[in-house]
Amino acid sequence: MVNHQPTIGQESGTQLTHAGASGRSSMGELTGTTMTVIACHECDLLQRKITLPPGRVARCVRCGAKLYRVEYRSLDHTLALTVAAAIVFILANIFPIVSLQIQTTRNDTSLINAVHILLDHGMWPVAGLVFFTTFLAPFAVLAIMIHILLSLKRGYIPAGIAPVMRVLQIVNPWGMVEVFIIGVMVALVKLTHYGTLIPGMALWSLGVLTLLMTLTASSFDAHDIWNRVRFATPTKRQPVRAATLTAAGRGLLSCHVCGLLSSGGHGGRTVHCPRCSAPLHFRKPDSVARSWAFLVAAYILYIPANVLPIMETSSLFGAQADTILSGIIYLWHSGSWDLALVVFIASIMVPLLKLIALTLLLISVQRRSTWQPMQRAKLYRVVELVGRWSMLDIYVVAILAALVQIGPLATINAGPGALAFGAVVVLTMLSASEFDPRLIWAPIQKEEIDHE
Ligand SMILES: [Zn+2]
Ligand SMILES: [Zn+2]
Repeated sequence: MVNHQPTIGQESGTQLTHAGASGRSSMGELTGTTMTVIACHECDLLQRKITLPPGRVARCVRCGAKLYRVEYRSLDHTLALTVAAAIVFILANIFPIVSLQIQTTRNDTSLINAVHILLDHGMWPVAGLVFFTTFLAPFAVLAIMIHILLSLKRGYIPAGIAPVMRVLQIVNPWGMVEVFIIGVMVALVKLTHYGTLIPGMALWSLGVLTLLMTLTASSFDAHDIWNRVRFATPTKRQPVRAATLTAAGRGLLSCHVCGLLSSGGHGGRTVHCPRCSAPLHFRKPDSVARSWAFLVAAYILYIPANVLPIMETSSLFGAQADTILSGIIYLWHSGSWDLALVVFIASIMVPLLKLIALTLLLISVQRRSTWQPMQRAKLYRVVELVGRWSMLDIYVVAILAALVQIGPLATINAGPGALAFGAVVVLTMLSASEFDPRLIWAPIQKEEIDHE
């Protein structure tokens, strides 16, 4: 009945000889895939779900987006990684990251300490951003993963799985431990001439945490989790005609949280996913307008972010205000050309490229362009992937401000540019998340259907 659908492309993953299925086979009741047809979350193309060997990734035949992965690791494996990450997360937060010794004064900083000092200096939006991205978001992600994995392992459907998985999807992009650790590195280089630096326990913990969180994220697949939770899908028996290629064209809605296809409501009523109760839309409502609004605000703030100082240093030798660019020049002259390059890419190139890329995507979508959809889909994925790295300079300033508070000798504080810069990062991330990539493909399938 769904034989006309294109079959999903596949990509070879790492081959493991000991495909661990022990956790899966013991699941009993919870096991079993119920979906046969799925819609691509990026271009809405309907495709027949195929059985893949473990460790393989299924990609959309049209836009190349990753559709789902077949886990070759067991639940136990993922759970062990997540618990290890949680333990290291605790260590990273109770021990100091680094200590700065200047003559007899010794100043330790932990993550919470850095946030506290920013708060004390009235920089609450920056403090909030640092706290959210380095503490709250990773904490929420780990807690939710442990809750879900532990319940599944014990054979239960995780309590509140629907809201919890939605929170996970929202919070996930905001956890930026890997960017933070690079920020700490840059800060250390800038601190070398102030005094003696003593690396703390949390510095090593953060490095290990970055590694563990990357491994955890790659073995925790949302679709895999939903497939373990058995649910009767109301649409699986619906025949899909060959002429209508997309879910929307067939009147089907694909859930952006759990990937379930369900029949859409008519008459402008908001429909909720029967499996995870997320609100469903054929297209994100007012996606283009919202995306533009965030983008325009980001453009405006991009100017003060680069012109105003992000860091103010006062010492016995006088006061100095650093903009993003002068900070990079300082790194370059002090011999750390590699870090200067990293900060240049993260703080100057990435935000600028993001602004240009989003503008290009929005204009092309508004003009219903059919030009290079694949390239534009890739551009969108790159924007989503690299956007977080712009947070780097914010972290550098936070660490420096936390450590260099030695009264008249030297004091570093975050400047107004940090506020504007933090806002640019958040606004471009929001703009990218509001953008609906299915709009790239909408004019193309219209042409295809018109041809038939
Ligand atoms: Zn696709
Ligand atoms: Zn859903």
